[in-house]
Amino acid sequence: MKSLSFINSTYLIIFISTIMVSCSDPSAQIDTSKAPAIKVIDTDFSKGQLNHVQDIQLDDLVKLHGHLCDGLVVGYLGLHEAFKELYPEGPVDRTNTRIISKSSPCLTDAAMYLTGGRYPYNTFYVDNSIDGIYYLQRLDHQKALSVSLKAGVKPEEIDSLGQLAIKERLNLEELNHLKQIEDEFSAVLLSTPAKELFDVEVITDFQWSPRSKHNYPKTDIINKNVME
Ligand SMILES: [Zn+2]
Repeated sequence: MKSLSFINSTYLIIFISTIMVSCSDPSAQIDTSKAPAIKVIDTDFSKGQLNHVQDIQLDDLVKLHGHLCDGLVVGYLGLHEAFKELYPEGPVDRTNTRIISKSSPCLTDAAMYLTGGRYPYNTFYVDNSIDGIYYLQRLDHQKALSVSLKAGVKPEEIDSLGQLAIKERLNLEELNHLKQIEDEFSAVLLSTPAKELFDVEVITDFQWSPRSKHNYPKTDIINKNVME
């Protein structure tokens, strides 16, 4: 009997802890340490040689971007999958990679930070007509890959509410709900094998055709002054 009551009280503690976690800030449930580190190589000073190796974490990208969000997690994990194919032998060479991204502020920040691709040096541009979220290319081998999120992975409500938010048609309570479901999606992404989330495919007829458009709406600042 004594061991039974011990088991019962253990279940009670787990049950109460679960309720406490589910009532707290959902963003606190996002464990960014679950994201794999990405090893990169750069030159070692302004006129340096290619020998400076660093590990990048998801939290580093969050500081560049300004916040943690589902789009940033999608970009980070999707590129990590592509890098395994593009640089199987070692670090991602950020002097040897160019990338085309969809226009999302989250995806573009992940693209530029992780690949080293930059607009002024013709190694980055935005094109919303690409399939999936990214096309990227390793310059020495010319190997090019596309990265897409598998159909059905992203909850449809995130996109439908997101579209309303961009049109400034959500109040603060609705925006908070959108944040909650985006945070829950981020937590799912970080605890799901990447092979179940992304398709990474070789592009055989890769074209680099930089677009000059550079006035996309920065959708993550549209609601910055919404009040209760
Ligand atoms: Zn974002």
